[in-house]
Amino acid sequence: MSNKSIWEDIKIKVKKKDMESELNTDILIIGCGITGLTTAYFLKDIEKKVILIDKGKVGSGITSKTTAKISYLQENIYTKLTNNFNIFTAKNYLDSQLDAIELIKNIIDRNKIECDFKKVDSILFTNEKINIDKINKEKDLLEQWNIHTNDIINDNIVKGFSVSNTYTFHPLKYLNGLVKIINKNMDIYENVIATNISKEKDEYKIETNNGIIYAKTVVVACHYPFFIIPTMIPLKTYIQREYVNANKVANRYNYTLINVDNNLISIRYYRDYIIFGSNKHKLTSKIDYKENYDNSRKDFKNLFNIESLYTWMNQDIMSNDNLPFIGEIKDNLYISTAYNAWGMTNSTIGAKLIVDLISNNENKYKELFNPNRINSNLVIDSIINSFHYMKVYPVSLFKKNNPTYVEIKGIKYGIFTDSFGKQHKVSLICPHMKCNLVFNREENTWDCPCHGSRFDIDGNIILGPSVKDIK
Ligand SMILES: Cc1cc2nc3c(=O)[nH]c(=O)nc-3n(C[C@H](O)[C@H](O)[C@H](O)COP(=O)(O)OP(=O)(O)OC[C@H]3O[C@@H](n4cnc5c(N)ncnc54)[C@H](O)[C@@H]3O)c2cc1C
Repeated sequence: MSNKSIWEDIKIKVKKKDMESELNTDILIIGCGITGLTTAYFLKDIEKKVILIDKGKVGSGITSKTTAKISYLQENIYTKLTNNFNIFTAKNYLDSQLDAIELIKNIIDRNKIECDFKKVDSILFTNEKINIDKINKEKDLLEQWNIHTNDIINDNIVKGFSVSNTYTFHPLKYLNGLVKIINKNMDIYENVIATNISKEKDEYKIETNNGIIYAKTVVVACHYPFFIIPTMIPLKTYIQREYVNANKVANRYNYTLINVDNNLISIRYYRDYIIFGSNKHKLTSKIDYKENYDNSRKDFKNLFNIESLYTWMNQDIMSNDNLPFIGEIKDNLYISTAYNAWGMTNSTIGAKLIVDLISNNENKYKELFNPNRINSNLVIDSIINSFHYMKVYPVSLFKKNNPTYVEIKGIKYGIFTDSFGKQHKVSLICPHMKCNLVFNREENTWDCPCHGSRFDIDGNIILGPSVKDIK
């Protein structure tokens, strides 16, 4: 079975362009997922030179494995934001999500992007009596803001309600539509990885595997920023992994579902398929990834009485205070990240905010998403996270005989033997922040349980924030 998502058969068509050893541009966008491409879309009429780079293929990052619900009903986010900040911040966030939905609708309508964009209702529910209060609080907040809700009475759930005006789409068809538009007057360079960024006089110098790019303005849209200072993202966030299963079903419905229970359940439909997300966990916990995969397949079988045709996993950056980090972190250097698993709307509103900031336009969400903000909740959670990161996963945790582990001169190595009997030996230290790597027996990769970097059996980087291979 492949661990590809249901979307990944779509090939995004990019005009092929090889990078010269030195490039100059007004604006550089690093990363071509939904964040980078939407930012480029909003910049399409600007009279400045804009170029985009991606370390791999366009659209091959986290966006290729999303479940692509476009919704403002995001677990009990408004209750959490009211607790973490206040009711005004929570309402401001709701407005941002509603605006984002309108922006996505406009982009699709105006450009006639064929991406299976579909209006659906969204349901929030619980199957645990203890969580009824969470549902009630979220519903009350939404109603207070004139969002109409309907109670769901169903034997399969304990408590739930639905809202309307939410959507689903095919994320890679959408990105393909964006590329068609922006590639008319912007160059996109694939397989170019940004490894370092520094300031030289009034512009930025970006080192890549293919040469140097000089840019007056840089938008870092690469999901997990590859530099630590000044954003300090590792201290403000954690990574959440989730497992997704899909197969054809006879009965399909015009709604999406998500719960507020500890074992997250997320459901949407796509054409003949049901797409089911479950088994979310902090990356630092539940590190037997194969077991997590197996459990998600079991849940799928138990609930729908069908085997999985597709099983994949994905991970997103979660901020400790439940708000994304979007905006200018330093003169003309912008980031947009930590969408808390709601990246369709947040990447869109983020792209609009960044383009407004670049163009000196007012934007009412500038303070809401301020990427340099400090929140006392961050500090406590950061300490807890750091404790997890420091934990050395002892070799004895992995009792399996493949891979095996050796220690030479104090350095731990993992040795994986492939089906031809060839041994692949790598150091177990992640180049990003020196965490110990863990073997992912489902996909035969070495994964960093701290910040989510992933490497193949020979140590080649698959997913950042690391920009280096392991030895
Ligand atoms: C299981 C799961 C389900 C989800 N479901 C939903 C959902 O239903 N609705 C929703 O709104 N959100 C959902 N999300 C969240 C959403 O998918 C993500 O937040 C969003 O796709 C992130 O987009 P991005 O463009 O920031 O990142 P990406 O798509 O990862 O794009 C970043 C790009 O940058 C490139 N890159 C990385 N490093 C470098 C570098 N150093 N140099 C050059 N290029 C680089 C990568 O190759 C990649 O192409 C889900 C997340 C998960 C984990």
